[in-house]
Amino acid sequence: MEQQAIEVKGLRKTYAGGKKQEPKEAIKGLDLTIPAGTIFGLLGPNGAGKSTLINILAGLVKKTDGQVVIWGFDQDVNPRQSRAAIGVMPQEINMDPFFTPRAALETQAGLYGVPKSERWTDEILELVGLSDKAEAYARNLSGGMKRRLLLAKALVHRPQILVLDEPTAGVDIELRAMLWRNVRKLNEQGMTIILTTHYLEEAEEMCDEIAIINHGELIVRDTTANLLGRMDRKALVVEPRNPAPADIALPDGVRMEERPGGRLAFTYARNKTAAEDILDAIRAAGIEIRDVATEQPGLEEVFVSLTSNQ
Ligand code: ADP
Ligand code: MG
Repeated sequence: MEQQAIEVKGLRKTYAGGKKQEPKEAIKGLDLTIPAGTIFGLLGPNGAGKSTLINILAGLVKKTDGQVVIWGFDQDVNPRQSRAAIGVMPQEINMDPFFTPRAALETQAGLYGVPKSERWTDEILELVGLSDKAEAYARNLSGGMKRRLLLAKALVHRPQILVLDEPTAGVDIELRAMLWRNVRKLNEQGMTIILTTHYLEEAEEMCDEIAIINHGELIVRDTTANLLGRMDRKALVVEPRNPAPADIALPDGVRMEERPGGRLAFTYARNKTAAEDILDAIRAAGIEIRDVATEQPGLEEVFVSLTSNQ
């Protein structure tokens, strides 16, 4: 049987309300499995419950109900082992301003009970590009360096599962490249990676499998390739030689829109219309075709179509 890194069953989280605040049901009965060895994307609009889920996995937020099994260890039965299997790079920067990166990593390793002989502080500093800042106070680090340190802290106990919560939100290109390089490298070494991101192109490129959640519920979970294949709509983009006439008699269900440079985009459903029929209609309208291209929908469109009518 395929090994699971994470198994979540019937997970619920309700944040208690305050004097002026209603209680908030952030996770509403979630079932989700994440296979070992993958780069897994957790996507969803703001407020969907991604960070809540991640923080429950990390043992930072207490679940209201349900079962969480991490690397085979039930969180309620083996809290220590389940915590040891996972490292989390949080969304928010939270660190002691008077610690140096080296001290922060040593302290974190101490918290996880990593013996001195098994620590790999220098290697981690090297990996995230902080070797030359090892002795600088955290308050003197740039925002990007603080994020590097957050990643470093998540790695001290050599977790089997690394979780990154919006690691590239608002970071510069260099830091983003460093992150993805390291994510790939760690994954090749066998680490399971779970990440949330706002950048769907990034998820499309990085993730083997994806779960989309919205309003605390699972909308879809599939391989990235299958998700992209689900979208039936395609576009045929034509560059005409001559100005297009006002109306073209198109097959049912085909929509035309104008693009910059006089190009015309025809969107159609693959299972209903053949590209050939659209080209015939275009020629019949007296348009000479200079060039033609097709467009497949990306994850962005999959995401919008799955979350918009909720
Ligand atoms: P995401 O990470 O997908 O943007 P979150 O998990 O942060 O979503 O939030 C899910 C919902 O729970 C949101 O409506 C948010 O306002 C609410 N929420 C998150 N944290 C708390 C908290 N500590 N107390 C009360 N409500 C919270
Ligand atoms: Mg979040």
